[in-house]
Amino acid sequence: MAAETHLFTCLSDNFGLLIHDPATGATAAVDVPEAAPVMAAAAHKGWTISHILVTHHHPDHVQGIPEVKQATGARVIANAADSARIPLVDETVMPGGTAGFGSFTADVIDTPGHTVGHIAYHFGAERILLAGDALFSLGCGRMFEGTPGPMWQGLTALRALPDDTLLFCGHEYTASNARFALTVDPGNADLKVRADEVFALREKGLATVPTTLGLEKRTNPFLRADDPAIAANLAMAGADPAAVFAELRERKNRS
Ligand code: ZN
Ligand code: FE
Repeated sequence: MAAETHLFTCLSDNFGLLIHDPATGATAAVDVPEAAPVMAAAAHKGWTISHILVTHHHPDHVQGIPEVKQATGARVIANAADSARIPLVDETVMPGGTAGFGSFTADVIDTPGHTVGHIAYHFGAERILLAGDALFSLGCGRMFEGTPGPMWQGLTALRALPDDTLLFCGHEYTASNARFALTVDPGNADLKVRADEVFALREKGLATVPTTLGLEKRTNPFLRADDPAIAANLAMAGADPAAVFAELRERKNRS
C-alpha cells in the first residue's frame, strides 16, 4: 500500500512531516522541530507516531523528540555517528545501509556538510526522499561543518535518484532560494517558471514542498555545480565542480 504523507509548518519556517503506512498502522515523524504541532498533526490524521526518523542533530530538528517519545513510546532512529548528540536514540543506522518502519525501507544516504553526521532517507518503492537540511528546493543547507568536496558528493548522490522522487526537506526557504538561483542561472527557463510558481504559492501562504527531484535537477543551482553554464555564469569555466559548489554556497551566504 502506498505511503500517506502529511506536511505542516513548525516553528517559523521548519516543516513537520508524518509518513503513514496504512498496511501496518506505523507512522514516522521526520525530525521533531517542536512536539505540540507534531502531536496535533498526528491526532488530526488519527495516526499514532511509532517512529522518529532523524536527519541531523540541530535543535530545530530534535528538540521535540523527548516529549513525543514520552507521549507515544516512538522509536528514535538516527545516524550511529551522531547518536551522542541526538536525544534518546533507540536504533542507529549507517550511510550505505537501510532504515525502516512499518513495511517501508529506506536507503540511508550520507549527506555531510550542513553537519558532518547529516543523513537523508530514500524510500525507493514509495519514491520519497527525506533530505532534511542537506537539500532544499532550489537550494541546500548552509555548510556549518565539513568541507565543500564531501558536501557536493552527497548532493550528487541525491541527484542520482529517479526524477519522479518526491523531495521533502526541512525548511520553507524556497522563495529566498529562488531569488538567489535567478542571480547565478538567469538564462534557465525552467527556473523562471518554477520561481514564479514559488512566489505565487508563498503569496497565498502555501508550501512549495514536496517537489520532484526531476524539477530540482533542472532548476537547483546547487545540484548543477558541474554544469558548464553555471560555472560560466560564475566566471569559473573549467573549474572543479566542488570549487564551483563552494563559490555558490559562499555567494548564497552573502546574499
Ligand atoms: Zn540544520
Ligand atoms: Fe534546520
